[in-house]
Parts: sequence; C-alpha cells; structure tokens
Amino acid sequence: MLTIANLVPDLLGTYGDGGNGLVLAQRARGRGEETLLVSMELGDELPDASIYLLGGGEDGPQRLACDVLARTSLASRVADGATVLAVCAGLQILGLTFSVEGDDQYAGLGLCDVTTTRGASRSVGELRVRVGERLLVGFENHGGRTTLGAGVAPLGRVEHGRGNDGTSDGFRTGTLWATYAHGPVLAQNPWFADAILASVLGYELEPMGTVADLLYEERCNSLTRS
Ligand code: GLN
Repeated sequence: MLTIANLVPDLLGTYGDGGNGLVLAQRARGRGEETLLVSMELGDELPDASIYLLGGGEDGPQRLACDVLARTSLASRVADGATVLAVCAGLQILGLTFSVEGDDQYAGLGLCDVTTTRGASRSVGELRVRVGERLLVGFENHGGRTTLGAGVAPLGRVEHGRGNDGTSDGFRTGTLWATYAHGPVLAQNPWFADAILASVLGYELEPMGTVADLLYEERCNSLTRS
C-alpha cells in the first residue's frame, strides 16, 4: 500500500496545494498501485506514510506548522527513507532557518542545508523553471530568498520569475523535493508527479494521457512558440 499524507493542510495549503496529494494518488492508482491519501490535522499524530506533502502558507501559520512538525517523528521517517514534496512555506521550513516579515529568524526542521532570508520585495507571478529536458510551470508568491548549501542541488534553473533567488528554484536532496511553484504544481506538471512516484515505487511509469497531461503539453507548446 502506498500511503500519501498531507501535513497540516489547514496551515500549509495555499493556492490549492492540497491538490498535489490527489494528483499523486490518482496517478499511482492509474498504474495499478493500491493507494491511500490521508491528512494529518492539528493535534493528530504523524501518520505512517511513504510520501509527505507540505504546502505553502502565510508567515504565522508557517511558523506554527514548523513548531508542530518539529514535535513529530518526521525527521526520523525521512531518515528512514520517506519522501517529502514541499512547496514554498513548506520548502522554507525543511531547511535550517527561515525569516518571516519583520526579519525575525526561526529554526526550521533542519532536514537539509538550506536557509531562507527575507527579500526587499515579494516575488509574485508566473514561475517557469527548466528541469533537465522538462519545463516546470506554476505561480509563486513569497517574500523569502532561499540559499542552498554546497551539497544541495536545485530542482531546476529559473527561466521566468524568482524561485529561490532568481537563478534556481527549489531543491532535490535525498528523498526531499521542493519548489516555490503553486498550481497545484503536480496538476500543472504531471511529469513531476510521475518523477516523484517513480522514485518511490522504484520503476519507470508508463505515460498517461489525462487532460492534465494534454494541457501540460499545450502549455509547453505555447511557451516555446511565444
Ligand atoms: N510565508 C512565506 C513567504 O512569504 C511563504 C509564502 C507561501 O508559502 N506562499 O516567503
């Protein structure tokens, strides 16, 4: 059984990020995998899952989510091989420290060598990132500027928008995947959902021809034409 868990979606889940869980579950089921999608609400124990999802959030809920998750066994589950997909505020709290408005600095979960400071202005708008042969598209809205430690690879190179710092977006280290893109990012970029699933399931996935896949191809065609 493949279990996918949305973590504190009431705190972290702006711009429909909870949809990432639905996309992963549907695409796993489409490949014949028995899949369970669960949510950890405030006050719940951390569920036992293969994939944990963290969404975006405003500064206050982001700090609260970090405090709540720091008291769970998330770090040891990641050390045991669980996968995490984190978006925006979720990305920031996986790191060592992050800053919110007012410049106060908070300890993150410390799962990777990543730090986020506060930029002079917010980054709001379309985000387009080159990830190998693929494009990743989405919407960003954040005040953070993220710096990756020497051993942490970015998810991709920014072609439009800010991402981490105007040059790179997100990161991929061990079983942690992160991006600044909302959308939900996996609905807009089905290949990204399949890359995460393939890494968890341990085999290459046959392509799917859902409406989301077709829309993704159309979006890429129009971007390369423009
Ligand atoms: N609060 C964070 C910031 O502004 C994250 C925002 C978000 O998740 N959209 O940088």
